[in-house]
Amino acid sequence: MSRIVVVGGGAAGLELSTLLAKSVRKNDEVLLIEPEIDHYWKPRLHEIAAGTFDSDLDSVCYFTHGATHGYQHYQAAMTNIDRQQKVVNVRKADGTEDTVSYDYLVIAIGAVSNDFNTHGAQAHCMFLDSASQAREAWNQISHVLRAGNDSTINIVGAGATGVELAAELARVSKKLKRYNAACLHINLIEAADRVLPNSPQKMSEKVQEKLTRSDVNVLLNTRIKEVTHDGMQTSDGQFLAANTQFWAAGVKAPDWLNGIGGLAYNRMNQIIVNQDLSSTIDPAIFAIGDCASIPQADGSTVPPRAQAANQAAIHLAKSLSRHLDEQALTPFTFKDGGMVVAVGHHFAVGSFGIAPFAQNERCEGKLVLQGRMIRRIYDTIFRLHQSTVSGVFTVSRLMIAKRLKAVFKPTGI
Ligand SMILES: Cc1cc2nc3c(=O)[nH]c(=O)nc-3n(C[C@H](O)[C@H](O)[C@H](O)COP(=O)(O)OP(=O)(O)OC[C@H]3O[C@@H](n4cnc5c(N)ncnc54)[C@H](O)[C@@H]3O)c2cc1C
Repeated sequence: MSRIVVVGGGAAGLELSTLLAKSVRKNDEVLLIEPEIDHYWKPRLHEIAAGTFDSDLDSVCYFTHGATHGYQHYQAAMTNIDRQQKVVNVRKADGTEDTVSYDYLVIAIGAVSNDFNTHGAQAHCMFLDSASQAREAWNQISHVLRAGNDSTINIVGAGATGVELAAELARVSKKLKRYNAACLHINLIEAADRVLPNSPQKMSEKVQEKLTRSDVNVLLNTRIKEVTHDGMQTSDGQFLAANTQFWAAGVKAPDWLNGIGGLAYNRMNQIIVNQDLSSTIDPAIFAIGDCASIPQADGSTVPPRAQAANQAAIHLAKSLSRHLDEQALTPFTFKDGGMVVAVGHHFAVGSFGIAPFAQNERCEGKLVLQGRMIRRIYDTIFRLHQSTVSGVFTVSRLMIAKRLKAVFKPTGI
């Protein structure tokens, strides 16, 4: 009998725990260590922050989900790893400490925004790194909307998180105007010369066009030097006054992770793993998702994206189950199916195409499409995650329930 401990029940860890529980041998045990009670798919946190997320239908309770799918949820946060004893140290919700033993350990704790040590960012900005932060953001924004006075929101970073948040808030502000809610003026601030700097140029152009039409003020080539309680100082001397401020730039694994267990880490605090997802230091420890630096045969590393988290989880579930039967681990190859970014609740822009057609590292050769249909594809990515976690039948029922709710619920946002 082996005990597999998965740390972090996000896009990667929840899928892995569910799939492992189905595929491991009868006597093997799967334990998920996760500090939250409910799972929210991270790419939808901007909807929680804008008050448009349906928590009833689109969240998963770890405890009941684990009980019905064959793994155990331990509500705690990992704080350390003792590789000699093969235990992880955890802090429980009540603040007490405990240790959990493992035969195999998979770390999938995700990433957080990178404020690049910008002065004042931690003190005066909100972050969208967890569901509780997103809920706190909505508390503040709903208060502003209700107060009725026009208000400015600064969002730093025009990657997927910043773009999706800006567009959703702009939509909510427009919708609520008819109820005399405050008008939100949104500044989306980006240091690079275009929004979505890691996407094809054409995709950036289409997204920026849509943001501008939604009255989002996009400020490019603008670097934030300091954040104060009432605004942001740029490095070229401008002051961008605001009532509410978000930091949505950069991605790194949390600082506390770097160094624990004596594993190998890179500059983004990510655990360096082999292509088979085992850590380069200890064959009993694996890492997947945003907290892992996963090499590929062509010398690149896997990008920190939901799609990559999903593919790595599916791969490791199969590979590790076979490994328990004495078979060798297999290398993970990320298949880039493109990228879709939601620009508001009913519109999305996506770049699609397979690698050989991409003409350079920014994949400029990819096909860029936009519109309501692409937004459906965006939703499908979430439904695929849900069906891995809960099964196709449950997802179909949820979709029907959602449609009915939309018909019977009074019109809102
Ligand atoms: C607003 C927003 C929009 C995004 N949009 C897109 C998009 O359009 N497309 C895209 O590809 N990607 C998008 N992303 C990125 C995407 O969400 C991540 O790449 C993906 O969630 C990574 O999965 P993960 O499992 O590695 O981490 P996560 O999904 O972040 O899960 C990490 C889990 O670990 C838990 N955890 C943290 N610390 C501990 C600890 N000490 N002990 C135990 N558990 C811990 C957390 O509670 C969480 O449940 C977006 C992200 C955000 C925030």
